[in-house]
Amino acid sequence: MLDIMPDDQSQDDLHAGSSPWGRGRHGPQTRPLTESTKADVLVVGGGITGSMVAQHLAARGLDVVIADRERPGLGSTAASTAMLLGEIDRSLEELTAVYGFERAAAIYRRSLAAMQGLGALVAGLGIDCIFRNRPTLYITAEDMSGSALVEEHRLRQRADLPGVHLGHADLLSGFGIDRAAAIYSPGAAEADPLLMSWGLLTDAISRGARLLDANIKTYDHGPSSVVAVTDDGRVVEARHVVLATGYVMPDFVKNGLHETVSSYAIATVPQADRALWPEHALIWEASEDYLYCRTTADGRIVIGGGDDATTDADQRAAKLAGKTWFLEESLRRLWPKAEPRAACSWSGAFGTTCDGLPLIGPVPSMPRILAAYGYGGNGITFSFMASRMLAAYIAGQQQSWFETFALDRDPPGL
Ligand SMILES: Cc1cc2nc3c(=O)[nH]c(=O)nc-3n(C[C@H](O)[C@H](O)[C@H](O)COP(=O)(O)OP(=O)(O)OC[C@H]3O[C@@H](n4cnc5c(N)ncnc54)[C@H](O)[C@@H]3O)c2cc1C
Repeated sequence: MLDIMPDDQSQDDLHAGSSPWGRGRHGPQTRPLTESTKADVLVVGGGITGSMVAQHLAARGLDVVIADRERPGLGSTAASTAMLLGEIDRSLEELTAVYGFERAAAIYRRSLAAMQGLGALVAGLGIDCIFRNRPTLYITAEDMSGSALVEEHRLRQRADLPGVHLGHADLLSGFGIDRAAAIYSPGAAEADPLLMSWGLLTDAISRGARLLDANIKTYDHGPSSVVAVTDDGRVVEARHVVLATGYVMPDFVKNGLHETVSSYAIATVPQADRALWPEHALIWEASEDYLYCRTTADGRIVIGGGDDATTDADQRAAKLAGKTWFLEESLRRLWPKAEPRAACSWSGAFGTTCDGLPLIGPVPSMPRILAAYGYGGNGITFSFMASRMLAAYIAGQQQSWFETFALDRDPPGL
């Protein structure tokens, strides 16, 4: 596998172009770290993952410091297409081949529950992030036959997951999509990921969390605390550290489970309402390098895909014009009613794991340093899951199923 990105990569190395998120607003202000400090928990990284972890821990009454060396939210979070799915990059059929049916089904149910928890959190806090509940359409790729999704649907039914199988005729008459088959499922959502992240950070700060401008360079793991040292020699000493640094990570966390690739996305010009598909479903394809698309509150279509193995930021940026054309053409074929012209386009580093699952839990042999790496196309759902699991770890309440996401897991079927 290709390596994950080195720790010295900046936010500019993570994405190029511009995404439509943030609505011209500014996120919460960071404060400089002027002197060494202590906290219950240091969260390193103020993107969607760090925000979710910090908000939850602060709500549980812990003294939280969030350190970000650049502008919180403007890493991978700003490049996300923010389709908030309970479904995982690996189909239930694929996950069953790796972990067996019972375990794979439990993972799917937990992911769906995390998605529901995320919706409840945003609603409960009243975060203004244009969060909309949406169904999903998991469609066959252009070269696939309808039988391809029959087994997947059967397994989902057996796992008690919601969803209906649509053949070609039903998919065409119900949604106007000319593909061989689809699985239609309720329980997903879309949002503006940057506004969500900033809203969570703002809530954490209102509960006493401190958002600091600090570049954490080293971690000294001791028996009762971790001493984290910044590039200018200041210290944050905390009982626990949560690493939420996205697609860059310290060397001591890296292993062979994960890699970074590149993904590309466009947001079209606004469409007339009649040019959008019914229910504004989140659409994604049942294929390895899938296309994915959603709509936005102002009537745009966001379509992403064209993933490739590029890891170099300059090469990724150089490919953007060609990928924009590819995505416009893909949209034209999938949904001919739309005006596919891109109003903005962007590219991003994209972290994946070999089993499609996130990396959540203690760093091996460093129990006070916890990882929150929600990789994959439903990374934001996994960020929510990480926030709840890591709070349980910190409280000494971990459960046996947490092992599924351990950093040193060894997927049996791979
Ligand atoms: C093109 C694209 C499309 C995607 N689509 C979806 C989707 O539809 N649905 C979905 O759920 N997910 C999607 N994802 C994945 C999702 O966006 C990511 O899982 C998520 O944004 C990761 O957020 P994060 O907070 O972990 O990382 P980031 O947002 O990158 O935040 C990490 C932060 O850590 C800081 N940092 C790093 N190192 C240090 C250090 N040493 N000291 C201090 N600060 C540090 C950085 O400055 C950064 O702000 C997509 C990703 C991409 C690129």
